[in-house]
Amino acid sequence: MTKIEWTQREGTKGKTWNPMRARNKKTGGVGHFCEKVSPGCKNCYAETFQKRFKNPVRYAAQDADQVEVFLDQKKLVQPIGWKKPATIFVCSQTDLFLHHYKNEWIDQVFAVMALCPQHTFIVLTKRIKTAHQYMTSIGGVDDVRLDGFRDAMVEGMAQKIYHDRTGEDPSMWLAVHFPLPNVWLGVSVEDQAAADQRIPVLLDTPAAVRFLSVEPLLGPVNIEPWIGEAICASTYQAAGENFDRCDMTGNPCDGISWCIVGGESGHNARPMHPDWARSLRDQCKAAGVPFFFKQWGAWAPVTEEEIPDKFGPVCDPFRTMCSNGFIGGLSLDSAFLHAPHRWPQCFPQGADGDASCTHAYVHHIGKKAAGRLLDGVEHNEWPEVKS
Ligand code: SF4
Repeated sequence: MTKIEWTQREGTKGKTWNPMRARNKKTGGVGHFCEKVSPGCKNCYAETFQKRFKNPVRYAAQDADQVEVFLDQKKLVQPIGWKKPATIFVCSQTDLFLHHYKNEWIDQVFAVMALCPQHTFIVLTKRIKTAHQYMTSIGGVDDVRLDGFRDAMVEGMAQKIYHDRTGEDPSMWLAVHFPLPNVWLGVSVEDQAAADQRIPVLLDTPAAVRFLSVEPLLGPVNIEPWIGEAICASTYQAAGENFDRCDMTGNPCDGISWCIVGGESGHNARPMHPDWARSLRDQCKAAGVPFFFKQWGAWAPVTEEEIPDKFGPVCDPFRTMCSNGFIGGLSLDSAFLHAPHRWPQCFPQGADGDASCTHAYVHHIGKKAAGRLLDGVEHNEWPEVKS
């Protein structure tokens, strides 16, 4: 069971599933491994968990030789034993498309997902180029991955367990349901650079549902070019590709079908400007994309009027920030609080420059207290699942 908010879908249980594991060569502890790839990884929560598994590694290439990564066969088959429908965060402690993982292992993960149509598997990655390579090779021109995938199903332990439990041959229906309708593929997006790099590749990757996890949100992000009904057609036509290819996904014209937004939690969390979250909410609403506001994270917004009640004259966990991302202001008597327009750093174009930014006050009160209301509303939308 997990309490991760976006796994709590009606009629399903929220679960995490971590078949990719890492054995620490020094301690023998079995945990997980990953490598940080972009600013969103800076305070990776999974990395902080590893000490509990006696696997005190950093999620960094320099520590890769301290662990032996492997596909844990016991964990692999767990979903087959979960009878009630579940919404499952796949590889919540790592990234399924980390370059250390062999394609044969990923085949087996996909084989299990194919064997469990009662569950919905949420695959979230920052390595969408690797995912694209993998997903387009399944069922592609040479069918190489599909062969591997079939081998994993026919010869693997998952197949045996499935057969023992149901008496059915799983490979019979595999071809009919490809790409898997119960696997949602998403990319993490923390800023505009990540959006620009990852979303176009996601749109070009076969998946039943494509989504964004904009968390931790570290700056303003414009996703309008990739959402709404027209995007899929325009993207593929502009790329000169065969639009029929989208038929593979069973969900051809939706582009991005779901957007999760959240701030960062934990001790060193970076604050999220409320206007960044509001903007994504409004972009999604305009395009008809389901919007899920997961959390504020450790920092919550506070209005100027609330400040005298909530804080003393000098208050350390209090910050001022502008929508361009600059953070400052430790005390109530700071020059910024009383004259934010004079705050020089928020004019990136120079003294005469961009005054279009907006200012907000945020305070560090912890994830639970910060809650998950955006302008007083809890946003809990999921994509519509096509049968
Ligand atoms: S990709 Fe995910 S699991 Fe890997 S280091 Fe980054 S945040 Fe952590």
